[in-house]
Amino acid sequence: MIHFNSSVSGSSCLSYLRELNENYFNFRNKLFSKRCLGQFQKKFSESQLYLCSSATDALEMIALLIDIAPGDEVIMPSFTFVSTANAFVTKGATPVFIDIDPENGNIDPNHLSDALTPKTKAVILVHYLGISTNLSFYKAFCAKHNLFLIEDAAMAYGNSFDGKALGSHGDFGVISFDITKQLSAIQGGLLLVNNSKFIERAENIYHIGTNRTEFEHGSKPYYEWVDFGSKFQMNELNAAFLYDQIGREEIILARRNKIIQSYYQGLIEFEQRGFLRILQGDRVHEAVHAFVIVLNSKEIRQQLQEFLRQSDIEVMFHYIPLHTSPMGQKYGRFIGGDETTKFADCILRLPVHMEINDADIQYVCKQIASYFLSSTNG
Ligand SMILES: *Cc1c(COP(=O)(O)O)cnc(C)c1O
Repeated sequence: MIHFNSSVSGSSCLSYLRELNENYFNFRNKLFSKRCLGQFQKKFSESQLYLCSSATDALEMIALLIDIAPGDEVIMPSFTFVSTANAFVTKGATPVFIDIDPENGNIDPNHLSDALTPKTKAVILVHYLGISTNLSFYKAFCAKHNLFLIEDAAMAYGNSFDGKALGSHGDFGVISFDITKQLSAIQGGLLLVNNSKFIERAENIYHIGTNRTEFEHGSKPYYEWVDFGSKFQMNELNAAFLYDQIGREEIILARRNKIIQSYYQGLIEFEQRGFLRILQGDRVHEAVHAFVIVLNSKEIRQQLQEFLRQSDIEVMFHYIPLHTSPMGQKYGRFIGGDETTKFADCILRLPVHMEINDADIQYVCKQIASYFLSSTNG
């Protein structure tokens, strides 16, 4: 069976866990969280970083930081994970979903002005598969209308725009280290605070609503409750796992890109023949998260998925559009012509992970070819 994903603990992982467990103070002083942050700080040098227990938690922190309250509106794509909306809806905001550009799965900028009202407080970009949009445009738009720009870069670790990492362009960004993402803490996330006005509050919210940071820096004799907050921090077991991944990051990202490029080589012929579209297209050289094909209809997508399942290949579609889901219908609003549903109905993601070998990739391509070339489907 070729699984869609795998867990990828490296050889250093067990020795890190042993090192962590040698001494209580390693936990208390957050030895591995600090090591991870030391590495990330090199990559995101202009951001204040918070290692969180998930990207979901990082988004919750942002909702607290920008004081989301009932009546606020937050613009986001409908084609995203539920956490993008939940963080803001639980604070009373209305998610204003806008249609995607089917060329790349990202928010369609043509609908942005239609979504804008006096209540709009923030725009959330989701960098689908790590494909960046024109961030300069969104920065200018948000500056002009006095809105916060938030980057859900959950699947964009290792990708950049204009030479600068995704997640570090807006006021805030989040990255996920879930087991399904390119770099995994098993469960984990990163909050990037790029707008320095928010650093002091971020410290307090991150420390469960206390001024613990000031206490640790010696400017307070004790710490106390000063703000909202929660236990957003990553735990040390996950941080040790993540640190091992950071140590092998170049190998992991290069291998994932190689797998994606191999699928591209193997399937480009079927794009040219009109059977499918390769979503990343000419940006496949920068892709490290997933390889996505767009089929011509929902029926073909279902048939192909079933055919591959019978060939012991696990493939996945992706999000159910939020505007069509029960919670989205109840709390949200949708702007656009609904390219989102068409797109969601027609995509398939192929297996990309460290346990896939070249023969597996060839087999996946061969089975997709045989599906299209069999008389019933050709
Ligand atoms: C994975 C993902 C999340 C959630 O990340 P977690 O770390 O699992 O909380 C949020 N948004 C997008 C776009 C994602 O792909």
